[in-house]
Amino acid sequence: MTKPHEKVWKNCLEVIKDNVSLQSYKTWFEPIIPIKLKDNVLTIQVPSQFFYEWLEEHYITLLKKTIKKELGSEGKLEYSIIMENNFSSTKPYTVKIPTTNRNAVKNRSVSMPLDIGSKTIKNPFIIPGLKKVIVDSQLNPNYSFENFVEGDCNRLARSAGFAVASKPGGTAFNPLLIYGGVGLGKTHLAHAIGIEIKNNHPGKTVLYVSSEKFTHQFIEAVRNNNQNDFVHFYQMIDVLIIDDVQFFAGKEKTQDVFFHIFNHLHQTGKQLVLTSDKPPVEMQGMEQRLLSRFKWGLSADLQVPSLETRIAILEKKMYTEGIDLPKEVVEYLAYSITTNIRELEGALISLIAQSSLNKKAITLELAKQMIDKFVKNTAREVSIDYIQKVVCDYFDLPIELLKSKTRKREVVQARQIAMFFAKQLTKSSLASIGAHCGGKDHATVLHACKTVNNLIDTDKRFRGYIEDLEKKIAIQ
Ligand code: ADP
Ligand code: MG
Repeated sequence: MTKPHEKVWKNCLEVIKDNVSLQSYKTWFEPIIPIKLKDNVLTIQVPSQFFYEWLEEHYITLLKKTIKKELGSEGKLEYSIIMENNFSSTKPYTVKIPTTNRNAVKNRSVSMPLDIGSKTIKNPFIIPGLKKVIVDSQLNPNYSFENFVEGDCNRLARSAGFAVASKPGGTAFNPLLIYGGVGLGKTHLAHAIGIEIKNNHPGKTVLYVSSEKFTHQFIEAVRNNNQNDFVHFYQMIDVLIIDDVQFFAGKEKTQDVFFHIFNHLHQTGKQLVLTSDKPPVEMQGMEQRLLSRFKWGLSADLQVPSLETRIAILEKKMYTEGIDLPKEVVEYLAYSITTNIRELEGALISLIAQSSLNKKAITLELAKQMIDKFVKNTAREVSIDYIQKVVCDYFDLPIELLKSKTRKREVVQARQIAMFFAKQLTKSSLASIGAHCGGKDHATVLHACKTVNNLIDTDKRFRGYIEDLEKKIAIQ
């Protein structure tokens, strides 16, 4: 014999079936279990918070109508959502389980991958949409746009990020894929977008997750047999930021589940922000269908920052740390560490630590010693830029002249000396040295090296210059 609540729900379903597509019916209505009918309130059990939100967003009018039809104008609907937090959580939530439902809950208990509130939602008709899932966005407030120095190296990625942040899901940049080498600011920019979205659109659910964490959660979900909850959780995020997607390479199952989440989010106008250490074309071990989706939006790269940007980044950092360094020290750091902003910042921090530990003033000398220790293992080489700067400072020439084509005697000599040191101290080719020094060809560089060697042997004063410069350039 059918119980009253089952009968009422069955009647509702018949109406609903006529009003939605078969697919929607199967997805959103078949999994619903009627639980009780009391005082004209029908309680239905839904598998997740996401499920409830979906129903409320898309089918509330239909549900309202059918309930009224079955139970009269006093009729109400109540949802029971089953969830519990198995994952380590910083904010404990209580799980309210309707007493009549204890067994069912036990059998179908689910766990969510991140902090989520769990509750019974009453009378959605009275206060629809008031209950909101709380997701900790996992954003680091220090990685803001404010702290992200703009330069030629990051202009496109930065402005695309900004556009996405003002209209998440509403630009052509979906997904926004930010790629670039280690320590160039991918993670920082990804957080900045998330933070900006939270500022602009406080109602949006933003989530930053590393691809490692995502993979780990997925494996855990498979082990606990609650993949569906994993997927539902990610499908209700408005702005999903996944860092270092190259880590998905070779992980077929993870790629598969991510593919489905991606599609769902993309189709429902949600924003995806991805980062990677390489462009899509170079990602090995990644499924084609996923790669092709990565290319749907915009891929923007982060390049190695120019000298000016490196100096600006150091100055910003000094400003936020409230410290002041001699200009020559800042320039020295910026000249010496060229390809990794993390290392650049690391050097600055070590320098400050060193000086406060030893109670020494931060001098160029200290910086040189420290840099040597700091980047010893990375086979550091002096850059051509640095050599040019030291040579120009020494002869009191503007660096632009040295890089120009001018044939003024004193400039020609300084240029030749810079070429000589560049050949000696860097691994750069003759052609590349020439290109840096006034657009000369490799033969000119070779000739310069010979001239300098001759002068060292024959001109005592000239040898003095070279010895001075050697000391200045040397990093000890
Ligand atoms: P990636 O994820 O590309 O390896 P990160 O985002 O972790 O690099 O950046 C490394 C460090 O450099 C971080 O401390 C970050 O704040 C800093 N950084 C990178 N780019 C910038 C920038 N444009 N302005 C200021 N700091 C930056
Ligand atoms: Mg990173």
